[in-house]
Amino acid sequence: MRGYHGRTLGSLSATWAPKSEEHFGPLPGGFQHVAYNKLDDLAEKVDDDTAAVLLEIVQGEGGVRPASAEYLQGVQQLCRERDVLLIVDEIQTGFGRTGAFFACEHYSLEPDIMTMAKAIAGGVPMGALAIGPRVQTIHKGTHSSTFGGNPLACAAACAVLDVMQEERLPERAAEVGAYFKEKLEGIDSKKVREVRGLGLLLGVELKTKVGPLLRELMQRGVLVAAAGTTVLRFLPPLVITTEDVDMVVDQVADVLQ
Ligand SMILES: *Cc1c(COP(=O)(O)O)cnc(C)c1O
Repeated sequence: MRGYHGRTLGSLSATWAPKSEEHFGPLPGGFQHVAYNKLDDLAEKVDDDTAAVLLEIVQGEGGVRPASAEYLQGVQQLCRERDVLLIVDEIQTGFGRTGAFFACEHYSLEPDIMTMAKAIAGGVPMGALAIGPRVQTIHKGTHSSTFGGNPLACAAACAVLDVMQEERLPERAAEVGAYFKEKLEGIDSKKVREVRGLGLLLGVELKTKVGPLLRELMQRGVLVAAAGTTVLRFLPPLVITTEDVDMVVDQVADVLQ
C-alpha cells in the first residue's frame, strides 16, 4: 500500500491507486496490495500462487516513507523461503539518490529484478531492468521494443555513471542529505509532523496541506514537490551545495511561519 510503480498500464495495477480503475480500467489483474513495512501482513498474503513481491526501499510518491532494515531483510528472507521473486523498484531511489549507488545496498539486499529509470541517463529518457540468476523464465530476445537498447540513451547513461563515480555523487548525497535532514529537523514550527528520508530523498510531513506552500516557495525560487497532500518532498540534484540547502531551509522555515 502507498507504493508507486508508474502510470503505464501494468505498472498502474501495481501502483497503490484505489481510484485509478475509474478512468483507466480495465487494468491487468493479479496484483494484491499489502501493508508496507509490516512483515506479518506480507507473510500472511504470500501463497503458492504468488509470483513476486514488488516494493520501493523508500516510498517516494507515497510520502517519502523509508522501510525499516528488519522489514526489508525479512521480505528478502520470506521471498527466498517461499520461492517468490523479489522485485525492487529503484526508479526513484537509484543512482545515488539515497546516499548509496542503489538503496538496496544500505540493507545488503539482492533483488531478483530491479527496475531503474529517472536519473539513469541524467534526463535523457531511459528505463532499464536488471535480472538475477533466480529469474529463469525470461530469455534474452523473447521480447523487444522499438526504442529498447537505444544507443543515444545508453551513451548518456554511460557518461552519467562515469561522472557519478568521478564526483562521488552517492557519497555526496549521503553527506549533504544528512546535513539537509538535520536542518529540516531544526525548523521550529508547529505545522511540522515529521521529517523523514534517506540521503537526498527527504520529506517533511505537515499537519496542513502543502499546495499553497509549494506555490509560495516557487515564487521565492524554490521548487519543491509534493508527495500526497501533506508531505513536502525534496529531491534536489545530487550536486546541490550546502549554501543552496541553507537557502532552501530558510525559505521553507519562513513560509511555515
Ligand atoms: C517515477 C517512478 C516510476 C515511473 O513512473 P511513471 O509515472 O510511469 O513515469 C516508477 N516507480 C517509481 C518508484 C517512481 O518514482
